[in-house]
Amino acid sequence: MSKRKCSNCGKPGHRAPTCPEGEVDKEELKRQKALPDPKTIHMADSNGYLCKGDRVEWPNRCDDAFAQTLPRCEKCEQAYRERWDQDPPAWPPV
Ligand SMILES: [Zn+2]
Ligand SMILES: [Zn+2]
Repeated sequence: MSKRKCSNCGKPGHRAPTCPEGEVDKEELKRQKALPDPKTIHMADSNGYLCKGDRVEWPNRCDDAFAQTLPRCEKCEQAYRERWDQDPPAWPPV
């Protein structure tokens, strides 16, 4: 069984009713639940994703460990190579 995480702040070790982050915002919880799991990792600069895709909101439940299981966006990698004429850094980081 995986460790239960607080559905309010996403941290393990306590449950939402006793969350130190404050009161549970039911609407926010609902909204978070409705967010789809990201399918790829994009690379971004100050103008947004290199692939020019729409910005994806990252759900609280998806942590770094989850992110590292995702493949990187191929269009971002392509854009990176075109812009800097070199391969992007390895993903996931080792
Ligand atoms: Zn919490
Ligand atoms: Zn992308």
